[in-house]
Amino acid sequence: MSIQNVKSFVAGRWIDADTNARAIHSAVSGDLIARAGTDNLDTQAMLDHARTVGGANLRALTFHDRAKMIKALAAHLSLHKQRLYDISFATGATQKDHYIDIDGGIGTMFVFASKGRREMPDAQVYLDGEVEQLSRNGTFLGQHICTPLQGVAVHINAFNFPIWGMLEKLAPTLLAGVPAIVKPATASCYVAELAVQIMLESGILPEGALQLVSGGLGDMLTRLGNQDVVGFTGSASTAFKLRSDPHILRNSIRFVAEQDSLNASILGPDAVSGTPEFDLFIKEVTKEMTTKAGQKCTAVRRVFVPQNQQEAVIEGLRASLAKITIGNPTDGSIRMGALVSAGQKRDVLQKAAMIGQEAERVFGDPDNFDVIGADADKGAFVPPMLFHCSTPDTAQNVHDVEAFGPVSTVMPYDDLDHAIALTNRGQGSLVASVITHDGDVARKVAMGAGAFHGRLYFNNRDSMKESTGHGSPLPHMVHGGPGRAGGGEEMGGVRGVMHYMQRTAIQGSPDILTSISGKWVPGATEITHDDHPFTRIFHELVIGETHKVGPRVVTSDDIAHFAEFTGDTFYAHMDDAAAKRNPFFPGRVAHGYLLLSFAAGMFVQPDEGPVLANTGLDNLRFMKPVEAGESINVRLTVKHKTPRNDEYGEVRWHVTLTNQAAELVAEYDLLTMNAYDAR
Ligand code: NDP
Repeated sequence: MSIQNVKSFVAGRWIDADTNARAIHSAVSGDLIARAGTDNLDTQAMLDHARTVGGANLRALTFHDRAKMIKALAAHLSLHKQRLYDISFATGATQKDHYIDIDGGIGTMFVFASKGRREMPDAQVYLDGEVEQLSRNGTFLGQHICTPLQGVAVHINAFNFPIWGMLEKLAPTLLAGVPAIVKPATASCYVAELAVQIMLESGILPEGALQLVSGGLGDMLTRLGNQDVVGFTGSASTAFKLRSDPHILRNSIRFVAEQDSLNASILGPDAVSGTPEFDLFIKEVTKEMTTKAGQKCTAVRRVFVPQNQQEAVIEGLRASLAKITIGNPTDGSIRMGALVSAGQKRDVLQKAAMIGQEAERVFGDPDNFDVIGADADKGAFVPPMLFHCSTPDTAQNVHDVEAFGPVSTVMPYDDLDHAIALTNRGQGSLVASVITHDGDVARKVAMGAGAFHGRLYFNNRDSMKESTGHGSPLPHMVHGGPGRAGGGEEMGGVRGVMHYMQRTAIQGSPDILTSISGKWVPGATEITHDDHPFTRIFHELVIGETHKVGPRVVTSDDIAHFAEFTGDTFYAHMDDAAAKRNPFFPGRVAHGYLLLSFAAGMFVQPDEGPVLANTGLDNLRFMKPVEAGESINVRLTVKHKTPRNDEYGEVRWHVTLTNQAAELVAEYDLLTMNAYDAR
């Protein structure tokens, strides 16, 4: 059998593993299958290539360009999924595990691509929040902006999800406009190497955007600077060692860590045996213990149940764990494969023994279990091991020791406060779940345990069919946790992109802010054009282009007619005396919606043209009421433009209504879809 040479991709070239590279064994057969790593890694060349070539190439693109690139990469990886499945079995993973790792990773890329298009501008600057009014007359304003870091992201990944773990970091990094150097864990780096090869061969990525280190990272971390980021997933001890390096500390190098976590699941006090929630709980805990042979950063390690439900829960889990077949993951009937390596098996058994000092093992004997289609002595197999600890208050290891395999401990609680206190003894975790149909229970846990957990997952009979599972981090939601979970946060949609960007507070005049942000700011120069803006196609419209109309007098007949026609006979529009008793109104006033309708009637250009549809109003505020006899003027300004597809884009117009005294009556953003061609 040939030994695979797992290469690194260094400054545009594939580099072979050295003869003394690290050995990688099959998790299933124990055979030597690959070697990875080189002593001669040119770390400076990699960093220079990323910073000067990759960074420049990526920063030249807009967020939308990069989102399209990520989508294309995800689509390309999808075409090659089978190759990734095939190679992943040697890590001990089953086909179901591959779906989580490979399909889950590709799905995460698609979500980031879509969020980049929908929630970020087609520009190079991301605006964080609204314009801040820093002066009385509005000539000096503030705006927070985010721009890509001009360094490189070094991603140090864990062995358990070679694809998902890489892609969930890579997608937000590329979207931000930052190049990445990916360093997968050696035990499963051959899977990541194939995915990197597939991505690079696609030609979709610009040069320098992605490099790969298989094996050791050499001295790379000591060469990082203030524009670089380390994204780490793995053990708390490695995270501590790397992040506390004086070079990292001295240069304030961002270090986003996701590490060990003693995640918990609580069976709600209401979710007693016989309820749909009880059955759901048994299912969720079983799944979390056995998926990926328990090698999931989010797996349930601690199981908290009401005192009087202990026996029923243990019985339920015993019955469902007994159905878990263990063995060669290439056999489709196998439900749990092997741990990633013999080393991990030793580690898990040692940690399980530590838990066993405080708890009784009630299911699973590592010295006596069936392994189908593989040699139990050669592969890194362990059975699911369920422990029961009846003294969770005085026990320590059960809250402290992460056995990174199919190992969980059932513990009783007296009441909900007790359950919350026990859950929080994990000292910060990635996720805690509560299976309950009681909203009060959920609220109490959210208040009592939220601060200790990066994610709280509630499930019950209403959500169970569509729920995604305790252990599934989703690209839309943050993944990470406080304290011993590392204190980092990944994903969470656009939040995850921000790790790779610098937020800068910009202060200046409206024109300066408009120039930087590409978004018209009230007070900035207004541009006039002879033609009505509704006759101009998307690309002709310029930021700041303004159309003014008015005045139009609002009469009492208008108000009466609108009230009768729409049925809106609210007293403030009908009864002068009643309106006067209301502190908001001087007397009978026009409907706000009447004013909006008049504004539309005033600014619209009725002929068929490039404006295809009015798709909404944002940020509508009514500032000053209008009485009969007063008049309104309307100003419509192109605030922002976003291409949507090949035919049209969205134009955001800033609209103000003022009265005869030039006082602001109403303000809003109008959204229209405008064609790229004249109609
Ligand atoms: P490690 O912390 O040893 O490894 C994590 C990553 O860090 C790997 O890519 C590893 O590379 C790399 N690494 C290790 N040392 C260095 C170094 N000095 N410089 C640069 N990179 C380094 O964790 P393991 O993967 O060995 O897993 C050990 C334990 O960590 C598990 O048993 C489990 O308890 C925990 N773990 C937790 C995870 C979580 O998400 N919560 C995920 C995975 C593990 P290499 O493989 O080449 O050594």
